[in-house]
Amino acid sequence: MLRLPIIALIVLSVFTWIAWQPEAARADSSIISSLSTGQPVVALTFDDGPTPYEPDILDTLQKNKIQAAFFWIGQGANANQAKQVLQAGSSIQNHSMTHPLFQGWSYNTILTNLDSAQSAIQEASGTTPVYFRPPYGYTNSNLLGAAAAEGLKVVTWNVDSRDWANPNNPDAIKQNVYSEVTNGSIILFHEKAITAKILPDIINHLKDQGYSFTLLPGLKPPAQKVPLQVHGQLLNVQGVLQNDLTMAPVRAVFEALGARVTWHDDQSIDLSANNRIVHFHLNDPNYTLTYLSGGGSTSPQTTVTSSVYGSTTVASSVYGSVSFAVHGTMPASAYLIQDTTFAPLRVLAEALGFTVGWDQNQARID
Ligand code: ZN
Repeated sequence: MLRLPIIALIVLSVFTWIAWQPEAARADSSIISSLSTGQPVVALTFDDGPTPYEPDILDTLQKNKIQAAFFWIGQGANANQAKQVLQAGSSIQNHSMTHPLFQGWSYNTILTNLDSAQSAIQEASGTTPVYFRPPYGYTNSNLLGAAAAEGLKVVTWNVDSRDWANPNNPDAIKQNVYSEVTNGSIILFHEKAITAKILPDIINHLKDQGYSFTLLPGLKPPAQKVPLQVHGQLLNVQGVLQNDLTMAPVRAVFEALGARVTWHDDQSIDLSANNRIVHFHLNDPNYTLTYLSGGGSTSPQTTVTSSVYGSTTVASSVYGSVSFAVHGTMPASAYLIQDTTFAPLRVLAEALGFTVGWDQNQARID
């Protein structure tokens, strides 16, 4: 009669073991060490920061319009340097809290270490790392599981500059890079004095060899800002370039143009000017453009509900006399960032009868 409890115990043990292993078992074992591309592009990465050499490295990158990933040791994270990295368009990623060799560490202690680094970097930078680079490139299942539990992808490299081993031998570092680099390489540097010094040479050489520079997979390039000029006056807010589309802060631009901007309770917006009203919702590319006849008022007297708005009949009762309405689709939906609505500039401005032109990287709206 002892058999049943023993079997139950074995079943329970196995079940417990499985239950305690899910993180390791679920870990995505694909460690990224190169970019999957046949094109001559490479990604630059800099480990062990932040250090005093970081500003020089950032300076070189900015001069070359290159963005890179900086793998910080969480315990050194600071807001001042984080700001510099982000302003240069580069990103800060996780290189552990204390830079240990994780060999022999339990899943939980690794998780705590990575989590501390995530928090420290988040606090300093306001950004959340999506990549973890294991110190010394050491990985095991506990580490992969902990990284996965933190939502971090594990990235190593396939070109090692060995800059840390050659503080006085720039040629050796260059040779390490030049002899190993290939399409899709992820190149490992450290924030060292020698690295900052020779980085311009290395970038020039790689460019001469036909390489261009890209971000680690999934990292988005920083949004490019677009200065906005309304009737010849530069606004103190800027648009954002997204997929070749200028998204503009709606209220600032259209009020500067003399349009009326009305927010409704259902997260829809009316822009009215030139006897026209454009009505659209956040996160919805559809809009309605209503043309008002001469007697119409562009000042809505009541809240308009989306379910009925857009029909000329209903609009006429709100705005006065209406000639007709058309329905259109914007190339991107309007969205909210920190209480500011961004929407595609050209389509809205032109719908209201304004003109939009670009010179250099500046948008002119008249
Ligand atoms: Zn390191």
